[in-house]
Amino acid sequence: MAANRTGLIYDSRFLEHDTGLALVSTPVAADSVWEPQLHAASPHLVGRAYRLLGRTGVLSQLVEIPARRATVEEIERVHTPQHVRHVRDVSLAGGGEAGEFAPASPETYEVALLAAGGALAGVDAVLAGAVRNVYGLLRPPGHHATPERAMGFCFFNNVAVAARYAQDRHGLRRVAILDWDVHHGNGTQAAFYDDPSVLFISLHQEDWYPTGMGGVDQAGSGEGDGYTINVPLPAGTGNAGYLAAIERVVAPALRRFGPELIIVSAGQDPSGVDPLARMAMSASGFRAMAAMLADLSDEVCGGRLLACHEGGYSQGYAPVCTWAVVEGMSGIRTPHEDPQEPWLGAMPCATEVGPAGAAIDRVVARHGVQWVLD
Ligand SMILES: [Zn+2]
Repeated sequence: MAANRTGLIYDSRFLEHDTGLALVSTPVAADSVWEPQLHAASPHLVGRAYRLLGRTGVLSQLVEIPARRATVEEIERVHTPQHVRHVRDVSLAGGGEAGEFAPASPETYEVALLAAGGALAGVDAVLAGAVRNVYGLLRPPGHHATPERAMGFCFFNNVAVAARYAQDRHGLRRVAILDWDVHHGNGTQAAFYDDPSVLFISLHQEDWYPTGMGGVDQAGSGEGDGYTINVPLPAGTGNAGYLAAIERVVAPALRRFGPELIIVSAGQDPSGVDPLARMAMSASGFRAMAAMLADLSDEVCGGRLLACHEGGYSQGYAPVCTWAVVEGMSGIRTPHEDPQEPWLGAMPCATEVGPAGAAIDRVVARHGVQWVLD
């Protein structure tokens, strides 16, 4: 069996969700003075990441796991029936705006069900011990989708649906979700804000998208107080800052919480060349961060780790960072070197913790000492 290998979930139908044309991510008319181009979240990103895994020789060392279509019942463990119907109806009507920055095509409803079901197939594989861990190269992403609304290129919240499924179907009591996408995981936060059975940690660029979300003071409510940990990082944070956040916040929080499964919302948009953010990571930083999460999962939950693809919008570089994440999770190291690394990984903002240190201090003051070490 392949219990020491990493699984990969990918389906070419993920590319059928058509985000159309835009000025970066804002809709404009075809005859607008702002000549539209492919939307920032075009299918090419995920397709190129999959091909890159093949070209570098990683793919042949992975276990490919088929996605499946999630049932409406599985989606409605997180989302309202009204929301599910709305996404379906917009798709059936030929597509259009399904919420806020959530362009849908006629295929979107079915593809979004397939992406969420891919995450569920990943849960099954990880919990069965069939593989060491799993990367779900899913599309569309999910972390901005709230229980009631499509947002930020997201329709159904893949990681939230997966966490609920792990609890309901497999009987897990505690699931941790780490979201390193550069944007705040507002949809995931909303799904579990008052729930102490799901620890949600988000690393993101402060005061970015969505507006007003992801402050340190947003820490959960009721019984969920302390089980939402937001780590807003200043623009320009690079590899060293992210790794410091993992060491100083994520690792102690996971050790304290003791999850039975760790799910990562893996958005590769904190890279130094992403068009939708202003961070400074390079592929080597993503590789190191993924390896740290694999090690942490070995330590706290028998290696049970499922990463689900979220954002990452540099057509050239986001796929390289995804390749590095899969290498880091799997321990595979192909002989190929990232051509961007010599300059992108060497920038002072990539190599030094810098202002991120004070930002992390504020999170530790709110959560770390009092909560992690009690
Ligand atoms: Zn993002």
